[in-house]
This record gives sequence, C-alpha cells and structure tokens, in this order.
Amino acid sequence: MKNIAEIRADFPILNTKVYGKPLVYFDNGATTQKPQCVIDTMNEVYTTYNANIHRGVHAISDRASEEYEKAREKVRSFINADKREEIVFTSGTTASINAVAFSFGERFIKKGDEIIISNLEHHANIVPWQMMCDRKGAKLKIIPVNDNGEIIPEEYHKILSAKTRLVAVTQVSNALGTILPVNEIIEAAHAMNIPVLIDGAQGIQHGVTDVEKLDCDFYAFSGHKIYGPTGIGVLYGKEKWLTDMPPYQGGGDMVENVTFEKTTYNELPFKFEAGTMNFPGAIGLGTALDYVLSIGRENIAAREQELLEYAATRLAGIKGLKIYGNSPAKISTISFLLNNIHQYDTGMVLDKLGIAVRTGTHCAQPVMDRFGIDGTVRASMCFYNTKEEINILGTGIEKVISMFS
Ligand code: PMP
Repeated sequence: MKNIAEIRADFPILNTKVYGKPLVYFDNGATTQKPQCVIDTMNEVYTTYNANIHRGVHAISDRASEEYEKAREKVRSFINADKREEIVFTSGTTASINAVAFSFGERFIKKGDEIIISNLEHHANIVPWQMMCDRKGAKLKIIPVNDNGEIIPEEYHKILSAKTRLVAVTQVSNALGTILPVNEIIEAAHAMNIPVLIDGAQGIQHGVTDVEKLDCDFYAFSGHKIYGPTGIGVLYGKEKWLTDMPPYQGGGDMVENVTFEKTTYNELPFKFEAGTMNFPGAIGLGTALDYVLSIGRENIAAREQELLEYAATRLAGIKGLKIYGNSPAKISTISFLLNNIHQYDTGMVLDKLGIAVRTGTHCAQPVMDRFGIDGTVRASMCFYNTKEEINILGTGIEKVISMFS
C-alpha cells in the first residue's frame, strides 16, 4: 500500500491553504476530494473525445460510447453485480432512490401497502417514499433507533408484515456513522419475499460492497462520495425487478421505436437512461473505482478504523464534548456537540482554523429529532486524513470551548 504521503500527493486539493492555514478536510461525508487521475480522466474526455454517446457513427462518439460502457463494466465488477444490464447510471443516490420510488411504486404499490425505512435515513431515503405513499395511498413504517444510534432489530421484526412491499434502509448513517446490520435486514425481508433497497451513499467508500453476497434487490450510490466526479451515480437493480418496472423518464436513448401510436422501450439498462447521460462523469467514476482498488478496499477500511479509534480517544479527553452515535459498528465519522455551544458557532471557529467540518442536521432531521437536538458538528474522516489533522481538530475544539466559556 502507498504510504500516507504518497496517498496525499494523489489529491492536489489537500495542499490548499484556507485563511493561510493548511486545509484540514473533515467533510468527506458530504463529498470526497478527487485524485489527480480522476481530474486527468475528465480532462482527457473533454480535450480528446467529447462527443455524445450511442448516437454518432463517427470516431470520437464511438470512443466515448466505448469508454462509457467500460465504466459500466467497472461499476459492475466493483460491486460484484451479476450483469451489466443491472447497472443504471443516474445523477446520484438521490436520483437512484427516486427512480425506484417512482417506477417500483407505479408497478407494485397499491393502497394500504407499507414501506419500511429506518429512523436513521437521509432525507433522500425518506421523502421519495413519502411522495410515493401519497401517490399510492401506502404507508411508511419506521424502524426506531436506540440511544447509541443503532436500529432496534426486534422492532424491525415487529413491523415487517404481509403488508410490507419494500424495505429501504441506509448501509451507513451519514449523520452518526452507524453501520446498519443490512445482512440481517435483507435476510428477514427475503424470508417474507419482500425486496430491499440499500442506500449505499455512505457505505460504498468505506469497505467492500458485494451486491451478490448481500443479495439486496436495489443498491444506490453517488460518484462524488467515492472520489469520483459530481453529478454521476449508480442504481443497481436485480434484472427481474428492472425488467418488470416501467421507465420513469421518457426521452432519447431509452426507446426502441417511437411512433405517435405506440412507443417501445430500449433494453436494459438503457430503458432507465433517458436523454444525454453524464458520460464524462461515468468515465471519471470508472477511474475513481480503479483508484480505490489500487489502494485496496480492505486497506482503506483498516486505515479509517485506525483514524476513528485515534479520534475517539483524542476527543474523549475533552470535557463538555458529547458524541452522538456510539455504536461499536461505525465508519470514521464523529458527530458531536460542545456543552451548550451552538453547532454553527463551533463550525465557524473551526473554519477559521482551516478545519472543514459539517454542521446542522446533515439532511437527517428525523434522527436529530430522535435525540432532541437541532443538529451536530460532524467530522467525517477518510483514508487520506492523518492523526496530525485529528490533533489539530482536538486543539481547535478546545479553543472553541475556552472562547465560549
Ligand atoms: N443517502 C445518504 C446516506 C447520504 O449521505 C447522501 C448524501 N449526503 C444521500 C443519500 C444523497 O446523496 P446525493 O446528494 O449524492 O444524491
């Protein structure tokens, strides 16, 4: 494995200074930084073969189409899906979940049906289901969360029923960092023939995700959270579902034949890719996945766990700091509050010290409500962060406390 200096050298933005101080980037849960190879790929697309895909008969259009399909194969292999037909490019996790909520909802949901989500969900895995429930007269059921920020399995088993049509849960909580027991969730749902969607936005980048082993029915993730470009994402769906689901957007490329009397749809996965797709983004995502594999997903996970332990120990010594999300199964994210100092004040002082953290509800208002708070400060670390940066954060937090006390 590359050493940390070599890894950091791959990410040019990490040399940035803010307010004259070295950038300490702890907002990786919101978006990750890009290695030079991804930036170079995007540059190469736009400078040498930018042309619309699947349409031209000319050389650079062929090249763009070929690279786009190669990227699809890289995604397929990365998550170990069975077939390329099961990999749909979207604009991100949000778009992927909305696509399922609309399309699966149109085909399979009727009045009185139930959809199960958890109290830990990002708004992207709440609101599309609420919209679908409103359209169809279905009901949303919620798996509650304990004081550690973990879902309560017994409560899940209680609400799983013959009325449940779909379970949609996150792999990892973006707000607290909790890793959910998705294997058990899927197993219990499948025992009752209920399909499961996994929101992988915070899971894909922190370890090995194998959709075949998981046996999930749908899996959604965003390129920008796994060191790839923004505006590209993936929806994995088992072929049997995608075949039965209607397209959710109409337009170019998703059709086979169009007349005013009748239109027939393209084969999978193109049936779900209407209009000009973000092919430079998809190709850039392919490079990002190659990069992650070159570092090694196990190596990334191990290094991030080491950072998490170090940060937990460093911050545990700070009086007045309370961590939200204390599950032993956690990614390298620490969500916290300081005494009665507002999270925005903490975030603003840390910013002046060059430290980028996220403050607020993290688009997960229901879990904030669960803990009776209106937000936290979130430091989300990844494998290019260092223990020195954690020390800078620790010192910064101590400064905030002394300023406001
Ligand atoms: N789900 C989770 C758990 C997330 O963390 C996020 C992004 N913060 C999303 C969904 C939405 O991702 P995107 O904005 O890239 O569509």
